[in-house]
Amino acid sequence: TDLAHIRNFSIVAHIDHGKSTLADRLIQATNTVSNREMKEQLLDAMDIERERGITIKANTVRLEYLADNGETYVLNLIDTPGHVDFAYEVSRSMHAVEGSLLVVDSTQGVEAQTLANVYQAIDADHEIVPVLNKIDLPASEPDRVKEQIEDVIGIDASEALLVSAKSGIGIHETLEAICHRLPAPKGDRAAPLKAMLVDSWYDPYLGVVVLVRIMDGVMKKNDRVKFMRNGTVHQIDKIGVFRPAMRDVAELGPGEIGFITASIKQVRDTKVGDTITHEKKGAEKPLPGFKPSIPVVFCGLFPVDSAEFEDLRDAIEKLALNDASFSFEMETSAALGFGFRCGFLGLLHLEVIRDRLEREYDIELITTAPSVVYHVYMKDGSMQELHNPADMPDMTHVDHIEEPRIKATIMVPDDYLGDVLKLCQDRRGIQQELTYAGTRPLVVYDLPLNEVVFDFYDRLKSVTKGYASFDYQMIGYRQDNLVKMQVLVNDEPVDALSMMVHRDRAEMRGRAMCEKLKELIPRHMFKIPIQAAIGGKVIARETLSALRKDVTAKCYGGDATRKRKLLEKQKAGKKKMRQFGKVDIPQEAFISALKMD
Ligand code: GDP
Ligand code: MG
Repeated sequence: TDLAHIRNFSIVAHIDHGKSTLADRLIQATNTVSNREMKEQLLDAMDIERERGITIKANTVRLEYLADNGETYVLNLIDTPGHVDFAYEVSRSMHAVEGSLLVVDSTQGVEAQTLANVYQAIDADHEIVPVLNKIDLPASEPDRVKEQIEDVIGIDASEALLVSAKSGIGIHETLEAICHRLPAPKGDRAAPLKAMLVDSWYDPYLGVVVLVRIMDGVMKKNDRVKFMRNGTVHQIDKIGVFRPAMRDVAELGPGEIGFITASIKQVRDTKVGDTITHEKKGAEKPLPGFKPSIPVVFCGLFPVDSAEFEDLRDAIEKLALNDASFSFEMETSAALGFGFRCGFLGLLHLEVIRDRLEREYDIELITTAPSVVYHVYMKDGSMQELHNPADMPDMTHVDHIEEPRIKATIMVPDDYLGDVLKLCQDRRGIQQELTYAGTRPLVVYDLPLNEVVFDFYDRLKSVTKGYASFDYQMIGYRQDNLVKMQVLVNDEPVDALSMMVHRDRAEMRGRAMCEKLKELIPRHMFKIPIQAAIGGKVIARETLSALRKDVTAKCYGGDATRKRKLLEKQKAGKKKMRQFGKVDIPQEAFISALKMD
């Protein structure tokens, strides 16, 4: 296809504003699939993470549209991942297209995720066409929402399209707008091949499938191509487009989006954002802007039953095959035994992986509290990345510590604003902005990621009865007065409970933790001191008193059944405990003790 008749675009939206429904309508209206095929096919292909209500992997579809001017256009839709945890992948797919439809639910208006995603589109220099969706609903307020888009996002919304993706209103106008309001891609057919690796995934039949956007040059079947990031060369054995099922094509030229397979074994070898060129007479310089997505949140995953360690290893390796942004290494903990220290792009990513391990692979897990990556600067000038608070080097060698900070955007109804400000303040937040998006307050805070990672989102939901919407972006590392706090149970340090805290908050956190543990650890036959300490200095202390000698004594002798039941109950309880020194600590303690409330 010649460049003038190609349009590449994505749809950006807050969750539930109608992105998938609109995509389905566009596919239907262009007769890309027959009505009969419609149901089974698309919904699966476009919404692989439908169950969780988010799309994680970018999906793509090529539509052919006969416009009112009599010309046929090829429209490539890339469905971007909807969540900030995948911000880097979103940003890459944005750079593979020239325009975006900005879908806003006209009964709701702009939300935090709308903002985060549209800024990515603006960064990628997109032409943006606002689409006000759900105009079939009586609560639809297109004029108010137009104004809000202009005020909050700062783009012209006077020609926003009025659409009901559900009932099919405005779909024709949307297709015309894609052809006439979005720019054609640029590219040089005669130049050396430069293709951007937009996404990749593992297919059990085909091996690794790579989604590419051709910038310059032409790619054909049997071409030998080089992945410039690590110089590996592969021969293309299949090349095609998604309609939305895979269909082979002879070649992909400039401006086109499609897939290749090339006997690649692991998704790890295909880095999103990499440049693919020909082995011979290839491009000299890769496309700009490559940066690998890096895990920012780490936690330990341990099997509840230590006999399942090998099963856990297998399961983690399988998941990693299809998710290059998830990292893992073996870890041993005195408290929890053998397990893995795993790195994730964010909290949602962590939850998705943990859920899959538990449900698909049926492994019961202990997850230690998530921790962020600290930069520890040593007195000798070197820097260590700290992924696990238990590995914190001796403070006497440490010069200073930096922690990751985020910019959090929160939208919340007026009634809950005070609670949200208090929550952010409590989490060492620095207020950046407090404005109004129409009638709804919009607050922007600079917060330590450390304070957000654990239960911020849960707290936010609970103080706002679920009405707040939240989004964040990493902004970088900053120094602060951070220390490692250890917890000692019966005078022995419990590594899985070590945490990094701000010095000013250490006493408070330490006290809260000791109190919690006192409730969570069952009484033993002896007295158990529970202490929080920084370095060698104890900053908080509780004592769990000893149990009366005979637990069954209170059964007044006679009732044997009751006695037996009580003992059985104790035995069952034991299974969910970890023996630590002479003390049994219940598994739930490792997470619960770290929760702040
Ligand atoms: P996504 O999360 O942005 O992909 O949103 P979906 O496309 O999954 O839509 C979320 C919900 O809104 C679904 O229940 C849709 O049926 C509904 N929906 C989408 N578009 C419209 C519309 O134009 N009108 C109405 N009334 N409902 C819609
Ligand atoms: Mg969707």
